[in-house]
Amino acid sequence: MPILPILHYPDPRLRRVCVAVERFDDALRELIASMAETMYDAPGVGLAAPQVGEAIRLLVYDPRRDDDDGDDGDDDDAVEPPRAVINPEILQREGSVVGEEGCLSVPHFYGDVARAARIVVRFQDGEGTVHEEAHEGLTARILQHEIDHLDGVVFLDRMSALKRDILKRKIKKAAKAGEYTLTA
Ligand SMILES: [Zn+2]
Repeated sequence: MPILPILHYPDPRLRRVCVAVERFDDALRELIASMAETMYDAPGVGLAAPQVGEAIRLLVYDPRRDDDDGDDGDDDDAVEPPRAVINPEILQREGSVVGEEGCLSVPHFYGDVARAARIVVRFQDGEGTVHEEAHEGLTARILQHEIDHLDGVVFLDRMSALKRDILKRKIKKAAKAGEYTLTA
């Protein structure tokens, strides 16, 4: 599977509102496999389809990074494949927790973002099967961050205005100095 180029903020393609996936076919599953490989290669813990230029409601994430959701004691986690989350819908949000986030589309920049502490999410997998799951900890944060991408929202948008402006200025400066690659 090919490694896909990742779009970097402020690429306008990251601002598109993505459309629902309707065909659960081999082409979709190939894209999922390529996205998973791209995510691990980066390396990252989550990647949304718009980040690789596909404006559809699909994301992948690494469930092995989840150390908050109750470990069952065995080592299955170490071999669990990346998960595909398609047409996700957050049904419930509870609590609020601030944590540092980064993004493969904003490489090397990080900022604090408030997210719901617990979510219930309904989604389809690569076969079209519907799942409904509760998540907290890192997985809840990853899912909220990646689902935002499907609506054209990046984590900078969720930061305080002051911190966002500082980060935007730093990115501009880094881009000018050739230390931050633009894709647009
Ligand atoms: Zn991101």
